[in-house]
Amino acid sequence: MVFVNENYLKLQAGYLFPEIDRRVSRYLNENPSAREQLIDCGVGDVTEPLPSAASEAMARASQELASQTGFKGYGPPTGYPFLRKAIADTDYRARGIAIDDDEIFISDGSKGDAGSILEILAIGNPIAVADPVYPVYVDTNVMAGATGDAIDGGGYQGVTYLAATRENGFIPEPPPLNSGVRVAYICSPNNPTGSVLSHEQLKQWVDWARNCDALIVFDAAYEAFIRDDDLPRSIYEIEGARTCAIECRSFSKNGGFTGVRCGYTVCPHELKGHTQQGDVVPLHQLWTRRWQTRSNGVSWPVQCAAAALYSDEGKQQVQALVDFYMANANILRTACESRGLEAFGGQNAPYVWVACPEGLGSWQAFDLTLQQSQLVVTPGAGFGQNGEGFFRISAFNSRAAVEQVAERLDALEWTACT
Ligand code: PLP
Repeated sequence: MVFVNENYLKLQAGYLFPEIDRRVSRYLNENPSAREQLIDCGVGDVTEPLPSAASEAMARASQELASQTGFKGYGPPTGYPFLRKAIADTDYRARGIAIDDDEIFISDGSKGDAGSILEILAIGNPIAVADPVYPVYVDTNVMAGATGDAIDGGGYQGVTYLAATRENGFIPEPPPLNSGVRVAYICSPNNPTGSVLSHEQLKQWVDWARNCDALIVFDAAYEAFIRDDDLPRSIYEIEGARTCAIECRSFSKNGGFTGVRCGYTVCPHELKGHTQQGDVVPLHQLWTRRWQTRSNGVSWPVQCAAAALYSDEGKQQVQALVDFYMANANILRTACESRGLEAFGGQNAPYVWVACPEGLGSWQAFDLTLQQSQLVVTPGAGFGQNGEGFFRISAFNSRAAVEQVAERLDALEWTACT
């Protein structure tokens, strides 16, 4: 028998979404008639159809593949030049940020990128994450063997968890310069809290990384949902970030691509790491090599569809999709507030982060909303210890469902299960 990667065995059992599914299934088994009433605002998956600019481009690209003249075989592992250029032009250069086409690496989405970046780093770089945050950053480090064992009560040894609390606006400061942290993950807009770092806050992080020679992995999967023009959408808006940050972006939420699968990373030429002997190595060189060796890239129809999001028609459709979900977020946040619930996020992010009313824990709030209102929310505790006492409502839903959620939140009797 082969030896297995025992790091996988360290992963804490009962990961958030399986536990949610377990509780929902049990409830529906006991209450089969509730099935039709159930509204899922738990998983952050999009609901609205693909922009027609993308679906038509994908259809045309598929037709081309079926013709003698348009057939395509393997493409460049790091992405077709036309898509890399469209991204660099529109998402960066048009906003005054200098990014070269070859600094864009096309992928099948940010989840994979967040994990595969570890392939070009030494195992064991101590990491820092906000708590609560998207669990993939820590779990991929656990799987790679870069952390210690699970800790009773949540988390892993060797990881620096930075508390994101009501008091700090859910935006923790960088760790001390002598903390030993070498990789910091920043998710802005944040999943699950909906908080967004300001220029000043992001500058603090960039200064920190440059002062202690650390790398920032900046996950901007939700940048399209930022409404406030004063907030940074890219870490490269901050001077010096080209020397210390990789940025991940995704078409999943703004382009409705969760099922199509496409995203990208930005890896600037100036970004460097070093060997144990102290030799300096450009990460761009290693990241390029990683793609050349490990992948044959993203399919032709998908890259054509992603490029179509940058056409005039595509841009308008993306904006309409983002506006639609943000109007949902506004309905949800307003419903919470008018019910007297303390709500955060939802203004520059598609998630509303709600404080459980006095005395209730995250999972109690989950059970109560499920049993009383047939609403599935996401318990904050599933995103980290500091998520306890909160739950997340996703704005990714149809308008009819969101209006129903608002009505049901209004009718909830929070005290019923304390
Ligand atoms: N990053 C964050 C913060 C997310 O919340 C998600 C998905 O929910 C992803 C990345 C995954 O994106 P993708 O669909 O591109 O893999």
